[in-house]
Amino acid sequence: MPSDIFETLFAAIDGRRDDLIALTQDLIRIPTINPPGDHYLEICEYLKRRLDGSGFETELVRAKGTPGDSDRYPRWNIVGRRAGATSGDCVHFNSHTDVVEVGQGWTKNPFGGELEEDRIYGRGACDMKGGFAASIIAVEAFIETFPDYAGSIEISGTADEETGGYGGVAYLAEKGYFSPDRVQHVIIPEPLQKDRICLGHRGVWWAEIETHGEIAHGSMPFLGDCAVRHMGAVVAEMERSLFPALAARTTEMPVVPEGARQSTMNINSLHGGQDEIPADYSGFPSPCVPDSARMIIDRRFLIEEDFGDVKQEVRDLLERVKSQRETFSYDIHELHHVIPTMTDKSAPVVQSAAKAIKSVMGREADYVVSPGTYDQKHIDRIGRLKNCIAYGPGLLELAHKPDEYIGVNDMMDSAKVMGLCLVDLLTDVLDQGERP
Ligand SMILES: [Zn+2]
Repeated sequence: MPSDIFETLFAAIDGRRDDLIALTQDLIRIPTINPPGDHYLEICEYLKRRLDGSGFETELVRAKGTPGDSDRYPRWNIVGRRAGATSGDCVHFNSHTDVVEVGQGWTKNPFGGELEEDRIYGRGACDMKGGFAASIIAVEAFIETFPDYAGSIEISGTADEETGGYGGVAYLAEKGYFSPDRVQHVIIPEPLQKDRICLGHRGVWWAEIETHGEIAHGSMPFLGDCAVRHMGAVVAEMERSLFPALAARTTEMPVVPEGARQSTMNINSLHGGQDEIPADYSGFPSPCVPDSARMIIDRRFLIEEDFGDVKQEVRDLLERVKSQRETFSYDIHELHHVIPTMTDKSAPVVQSAAKAIKSVMGREADYVVSPGTYDQKHIDRIGRLKNCIAYGPGLLELAHKPDEYIGVNDMMDSAKVMGLCLVDLLTDVLDQGERP
């Protein structure tokens, strides 16, 4: 009997294959490029029609006043909720609707949604409209198969993940949409591969370092003080002491790719002296000793590292340089930070996904942690909800690349996994582990 029910659920998902393809194509064809954050209302209205048709109560929420929100580019989000027959937990599927810029090198129409054999191409196909479509199909097939489920299901489509999520999940979390009394389980169908459960991400600290100097004529640099040379000393000290120390710092976090299974720092930019001259200017730059040089650092840190220590390590480095250079002076200020997060493997949504992956894929799930952050940070820190994973189809390596695509079979398999998670969390049909 139980296995019959699974077959019915899987058949309901298999029967929606064409629907899944069409839904994915429709989502790709709405060019929700961010920045600037275009067509958010259009995609929310499309999703509203879809979810209303499946019995959801839907709400469009504009994140008014958040970064980037304007009358020209309003930050629209959609939240849909469908209550079951009895009370119980709420399972929430959250997907971001925005995609990054197109970039160079495409051989396909980035907003065409072309289907070629098993692949649907387009900007956002993999990150993450394919995963979004798979979750909707999973939910609709589950509702058809288990109309008397307990608890409730929520689906949200949110803005601005690619630029920090402030006009999307962060805003909704602040408004209580991810409070633990409303939502108990969250699955974010980001492209982490259909057989992997992503537990969280490393932390981030962005800071700007400025070194100061004194302007003078470039023919008599001894009359000034070169801020670029001071910054050069900072870079040299980073090479000598900081980068080796970071590379030696290992972690319990199963970060993929493995190169990111340590602390890292990138120098995102470095500029000193006169501002960049416009490309169409045909004259010469001015001969001056630069009085300012600025560097943006992008430090990614581990759950084992204290955020205060991360910042202090860089301040100590700057102080070391200062002690070695007579006229050295600097400023440092933070631009942005995110604390690392990692859901416990014993959390219910993790257990549920692991069992479902085993049932569908016939193998144990892999547990991974993302090198970069995604919206789980807001669900954890603002929503105070720890029972959250990223799970979805697609290869992370294709995200943001030309000719990005999503595999239809991968979407189908991950829809089955998501469907089984719903069975596990919202019905008492059985223990999936006993499935033949
Ligand atoms: Zn994404």
